[in-house]
Amino acid sequence: MIKQAKKYFGQHFLINKLISQKIVDSITFDPAQYIIEIGPGRGALTEFLISKSNQIKLIEIDSDCIKILENRFPNTEIICDDFLKIELKQLGLQKYSIIGNFPYNISSQILFKVLENRNDINQVVGMFQKEVADRICSEPKSKKYGILSVLIQAYFDCEKLFDVSPNNFNPKPKVYSSVIKLSRNNVKQLNCDYNKFIEIVKLGFSQRRKKLKNALKKIITLDYLNTNKMLTKRAEELSVSDFIELTNLIFPKS
Ligand code: SAH
Repeated sequence: MIKQAKKYFGQHFLINKLISQKIVDSITFDPAQYIIEIGPGRGALTEFLISKSNQIKLIEIDSDCIKILENRFPNTEIICDDFLKIELKQLGLQKYSIIGNFPYNISSQILFKVLENRNDINQVVGMFQKEVADRICSEPKSKKYGILSVLIQAYFDCEKLFDVSPNNFNPKPKVYSSVIKLSRNNVKQLNCDYNKFIEIVKLGFSQRRKKLKNALKKIITLDYLNTNKMLTKRAEELSVSDFIELTNLIFPKS
């Protein structure tokens, strides 16, 4: 018997097969590369994935879903674990892409994990809460532009594909969803200290209404910087490359 969906695992199962197909069709298949599906649930996307590739690994936390998946896809590798706790390097994959109708309660953590493993990841095609998807893909000078936009866009080309209404899920979520595609760009290393870059982006947006010279007061040790033009702007006005320039201004390379 199929048990009820579990709220604490962010379970909203996709019930529209056309949308499942559309999501799976959005990822680029490379026979030499694995695809990891995060949170396959009862297999709404997996059903279409397996007809395209046999290099698939499923990572699902819920043992009730695992039983269903094992029955439906006996030849597919299924890992019963918390995606956030898995050491992705230990899966022993060279390069891989990620797909999923992600559990919305951990979407930022999933993205931070993607960033940590960015050099092994080719593409991410995923469903997010619409608001989060908009933030990731947003351009500077928008209210939606923030920490995630800058950090993800530093390493990925971001494309919003389409919106999905709550009616396509069971149980229905309260919010709209959107599918986005992140494609790894060719930046191997940012032209600045990455940890300082993150520190500046986070601090800059922590008081996003303030000019950067005020928001970053704690870390600006060189007085003359206060007159720098970039610091008279707000975080949301700066592009990724502006943030890189700013990082090098505040923490000059030795
Ligand atoms: N892909 C399915 C299910 C989406 S719901 C569909 O489209 O129908 C989100 C899924 O993520 C659920 O199956 C839930 O159990 C799973 N999940 C939630 N937290 C997880 C975690 N930390 N690691 C792996 N899977 C998780």
